[in-house]
Amino acid sequence: MQLDAKIPGGSLSEKWDRHRFELKLVNPANKRKFDIIVVGTGLAGGSASASLAELGYNVKTFCIQDSPRRAHSIAAQGGINAAKNYTNEGDSIWRLFYDTIKGGDFRSREANVYRLAQLSNNIIDQCVAQGVPFARDYGGLLANRSFGGAQVQRTFYSRGQTGQQLLLGAYSALMRQVAAGKVKMFPRREMLDLVIINEQARGVVVRNLITGEIEAHAADAVVLSTGGYGNVYYLSTMAMASNVSASYRVFKKGAFFANPCFTQIHPTCIPVHGTYQSKLTLMSESLRNDGRVWVPKKPGDKHPPRQIPESERDYFLENKYPSFGNLVPRDVASRNAKEQCDMGKGVGETGFAVYLDFEDAIKRDGKDVIAQKYGNLFQMYEKITADNPYETPMMIYPAVHYTMGGLWVDYNLMSTIDGLFVMGEANFSDHGANRLGASALMQGLADGYFIIPYTIGGYLVGSELQDITTDHPSFKESIHEANSRIKKLLSINGKRTVDDFHKELGHIIWEYCGMTRNDEGLKKAQRLIRNLREEFWGNVIVPGSKEEFNQSLERAGRVADFLEFGELMIIDALERKESCGGHFNEAYQTEENEAKRDDENFCHVTAWEFVEEDKEPVFHKESLVFENVELTQRSYK
Ligand SMILES: Cc1cc2nc3c(=O)[nH]c(=O)nc-3n(C[C@H](O)[C@H](O)[C@H](O)COP(=O)(O)OP(=O)(O)OC[C@H]3O[C@@H](n4cnc5c(N)ncnc54)[C@H](O)[C@@H]3O)c2cc1C
Repeated sequence: MQLDAKIPGGSLSEKWDRHRFELKLVNPANKRKFDIIVVGTGLAGGSASASLAELGYNVKTFCIQDSPRRAHSIAAQGGINAAKNYTNEGDSIWRLFYDTIKGGDFRSREANVYRLAQLSNNIIDQCVAQGVPFARDYGGLLANRSFGGAQVQRTFYSRGQTGQQLLLGAYSALMRQVAAGKVKMFPRREMLDLVIINEQARGVVVRNLITGEIEAHAADAVVLSTGGYGNVYYLSTMAMASNVSASYRVFKKGAFFANPCFTQIHPTCIPVHGTYQSKLTLMSESLRNDGRVWVPKKPGDKHPPRQIPESERDYFLENKYPSFGNLVPRDVASRNAKEQCDMGKGVGETGFAVYLDFEDAIKRDGKDVIAQKYGNLFQMYEKITADNPYETPMMIYPAVHYTMGGLWVDYNLMSTIDGLFVMGEANFSDHGANRLGASALMQGLADGYFIIPYTIGGYLVGSELQDITTDHPSFKESIHEANSRIKKLLSINGKRTVDDFHKELGHIIWEYCGMTRNDEGLKKAQRLIRNLREEFWGNVIVPGSKEEFNQSLERAGRVADFLEFGELMIIDALERKESCGGHFNEAYQTEENEAKRDDENFCHVTAWEFVEEDKEPVFHKESLVFENVELTQRSYK
């Protein structure tokens, strides 16, 4: 199959306008004749549901949580990028576009990234109009701060709770449509399968997580916005319910999975502190605006930080990357922190941590200013670690945080299944091999508020859609498959818990497909995952029954998918014989230990096609064409 990204013609800056003009429109009176299913209520799904309903479509929206407001997006802390140039530092749509393309190590589509930068400004206007309380400067304009990989301040924020405030905006818009009767909300539902009829996505099968009932829902198109799969690593900063299941099940139905090995490991997280931990906590990248990252110069130096004199400290990011300093992109900062710890210079009990120190900032700006900017983050850190970051440096270490890989989509956000659209973190996205901070919220909201409302109309009006109901045999078949799988999971009655399998899987993937990879380790991981998967289906114990609220059963289904998906990540990592962004294969590095791309052979998106159980997926690629930027070795020096 030839992948067609359907990138419109014309100059970069005109593509989106021109495409919107060329897309067929659904007349306002006809919109009410179409039903659309949206799965997920994070920033992508919440904004899409509200916008589609506002346009007049009948929307059915599903989410795992008890309220759409509890989607993982609520955890986002630091901010959202936009090219407003309020700070007069020379920002522009072009600069945001260029920084994002470069930050992603030239592994994303020019046309998509440019559109994202264009829409960034509309997002801020939309959210301000909704009442999102962004921080403001002394003159009343919205304030900005810096994030990694950029030399201008373009990040809009609401203290350390930007995701929460943006989600409340989208949620209010969504609930307005629920009240108007245009959105029917189905919380506490987990999508188990996609229903395809006449090669078009026509519905979903979900489990009611409270009653256990399996339900079928039909529509004219399905929009997935089910978030990222970072929890394949077990320990991550993502919400406990974040999963790959919806994406993986549609992969098995024919949607290609793109760049699954591109994972983001965030440099500033609270280090792992024990074997009973099930979650990691992010300390926002915004802290690197004022915090200085350092380790003792002497390996093994165990003096308390305040007793280590300035001359004995290595501010390794500032020294190695004088232009960007502590604000190098996440992949670069993470690898450097790991390198320091591997050299024995790590701090804290485990030696797997570096300092993030605010002493200079507090001396310069005063405690009050720092508290105003980061107060809630400092409080969170103190609650978790019992250390006061106003007095002693924070200790941080990289952790899994975001997934750039996802379902392949074209310029219209449509997957390789007609009528199945994918948005937000669930698609393979505009971030290439490494996402810049504050760009995920931007992408989710661009997809939901400003892209899908146009492109889905073009699909609906241009497609022949048969009248169907959930009585169609394809729905019955999907329900039967979902029930059989649940029955199988409950019948194994083995000895190991679901969490135990998940933990081992996470350990394997972190060890061999984490911050750095090599072919030998990846092959080992593939064997280990296969064995673990086999053991899972023979020895897992899932207590309880299917007709009740049963979180072990929910998790078992998700871990079963992670066990298959983990292997897909490894296959993808093995295929990409270069280093780029978050995919760092030790065999491909520059003399200065930076990722070494191979643009001649790997300037493409990999897209995997499922063929059959226990068979390797089929490789496809979308070549990336750069007409407007020159591919260079990334440098942040
Ligand atoms: C701690 C943290 C801080 C972050 N801070 C920032 C930041 O400051 N700036 C930034 O740009 N990005 C940030 N990010 C990244 C950003 O928050 C996410 O990428 C983004 O919120 C994802 O939004 P989404 O709508 O795609 O998915 P999510 O918010 O993950 O929503 C997924 C939705 O899908 C539903 N769902 C999932 N599976 C199923 C299923 N099978 N059936 C039914 N429903 C399902 C869930 O219930 C949920 O409603 C941060 C991430 C983390 C972990």
